[in-house]
Parts: sequence; C-alpha cells; structure tokens
Amino acid sequence: MKIAVCTKQIPDPQGPQRLGDDLRLDRSGKVLLDDADSYGVELGLQLAEASGGEVVVVSMVPDHETAGVRQALAMGAASAVVVSDDALRGADALTTATVLASVARRVGADMVLTATESTDGYTGTVAAQIAGLLGWPAVTFAKGVTLEGTHVRANRQAEDGVWVVESELPCVVSVTAGVVEPRYPSFKGIMSAKSKPVEQLSLADLGLEARATQRVVAVQEAAQREAGTVIEDDGSAEAAVVAFLESIKVL
Ligand SMILES: Cc1cc2nc3c(=O)[nH]c(=O)nc-3n(C[C@H](O)[C@H](O)[C@H](O)COP(=O)(O)OP(=O)(O)OC[C@H]3O[C@@H](n4cnc5c(N)ncnc54)[C@H](O)[C@@H]3O)c2cc1C
Repeated sequence: MKIAVCTKQIPDPQGPQRLGDDLRLDRSGKVLLDDADSYGVELGLQLAEASGGEVVVVSMVPDHETAGVRQALAMGAASAVVVSDDALRGADALTTATVLASVARRVGADMVLTATESTDGYTGTVAAQIAGLLGWPAVTFAKGVTLEGTHVRANRQAEDGVWVVESELPCVVSVTAGVVEPRYPSFKGIMSAKSKPVEQLSLADLGLEARATQRVVAVQEAAQREAGTVIEDDGSAEAAVVAFLESIKVL
C-alpha cells in the first residue's frame, strides 16, 4: 500500500509577501510545509501504519526546495519526490495536477491525498484534476477517513450535513483541516529525515512538457471597505431599511 501525499511548500504566511517582476508571489525565500497539508501527511501516516504501507511525499516547487518536504519526512513519511523545473514558472492548477498525477503514477501510488485547498493559491481544484487525469474516483472534503483492505470510507463535509462516501482503491482523497491531529515531529524524526531519500525530478524525467498557460496582467489593492450607515430607530427605521434595500436592488 503506497500513499502519495501532495504537499505544497509555501512562503511563510506570517512573513512579508512580495510580488516578483512577473506579478506572482516571490517564492525565492524560505518555504514551509503548507499547514493545510500537515493533515494529509498525518492521515497518510495513520492509514499506512494501519495497513503496513508507506507514505511518499510529493511536491512541485521552484528551486529544488525541500525544507517543507523535510518537515513531512520528520513526521514519519518514508521518502519524497520533488519536481522542480524553470519551465514550470507560472504553472497553473491544471499543469500542477498533471505533474502530481504523473508522479503518483511513477511511484505506483494506491491512494493520493491532498488538502482541500492550499493556503496561498486556494483554487481548490487540484485534487479533482489529479483524479480526472488518473481516471480515479475523487473523494473530496473528507473530514474522517478509514481504510479496510481496498475499501475507503470517508465522512464528507457538505453544506447540508455529513455524507458517508465509499470508494475502492485507487482513489484521490482531499481532506479538510481537523480530519486528524497532526503529530509534532520527534527529535529522532527530525534527525532521521535528513537521511531519507528525496528524489529530484525535472519535467523531462516525467516525459512532460510545460505549457505557459497563465500570465498575471495586473494586480490592484483591494478597495477599502466603506463605513456602514447607522439607522437610529426613532419610529422610521423600517422605512429607512426598506429604502436602503431598494437602493441596492435587494428588494
Ligand atoms: C516555478 C514555480 C512557480 C510557482 N509559482 C506559483 C505562484 O506564484 N503562486 C501559486 O499559487 N503557486 C505557484 N506555484 C505552484 C503551483 O503553480 C500551484 O501549486 C498550483 O497552481 C496549484 O494551485 P492551488 O495552490 O490554488 O491549488 P489547490 O487546489 O488550492 O491545492 C489543493 C491541494 O493540492 C496540493 N497541491 C497544490 N499545489 C501543489 C504543489 N505545487 N505541490 C504539491 N501539492 C500541491 C496540496 O495538497 C494542496 O493543499 C509555482 C510552482 C512552480 C514549480
């Protein structure tokens, strides 16, 4: 049982966020494991421990960065595959999903885990795209996952409640925060992460070619929120509220 956990390595969300000349987030500094992905790593580890399997961490990142991936290895993942290639600059979600799906195929994954959405890009589309590219079922928004043999059962968070969804392996599962409580890496885990295998791949290694699909043409500051209107109720508030709702075409 091989579980590929997709982990995005992102610039520190607490640090200053700078835009590069191409108007995209400057990712040249230190990167961290996206907190959203620590849940997928923990779930992967728990499922692997219960089934005698192993977790392979998969990440696509600029400049061969591995700091975030080492965090996942320190938690207990067995190995990692990192894809870095200058041709991926400006990669959109579909290009990312194509790369991640290709790695999942290459490592022989039985299951792919992702977060529901990343902290910095948050399109929330990569999991479903990986599933589509692999031709596997996608179990999305999972807030609880169990595995019995090749049978996956997940509680899916939906607006109207929790759905219980079942799927056979192989499948892609996207998890929500809180699906499990991520463990803190132990000192032993941090030390052993330094010697765990991290395979570095280029697009050519995967037999893929990049397509420049996206360009950021402009970035504007978000408009300041305007102060609201306070209506004092001196007996005429109802009429004032109705007039306001009519003015914004709600009524
Ligand atoms: C050279 C280079 C430059 C890049 N520049 C940018 C940039 O400026 N802005 C930006 O947002 N992204 C950038 N990326 C990363 C990539 O383009 C985005 O990850 C991709 O567009 C996915 O968008 P998302 O985060 O909205 O996905 P979502 O669908 O919100 O992500 C859901 C989940 O999918 C998985 N996932 C998503 N992306 C990755 C990844 N890269 N590696 C492993 N797992 C992943 C994670 O589990 C994530 O939580 C760059 C990548 C490279 C290689």
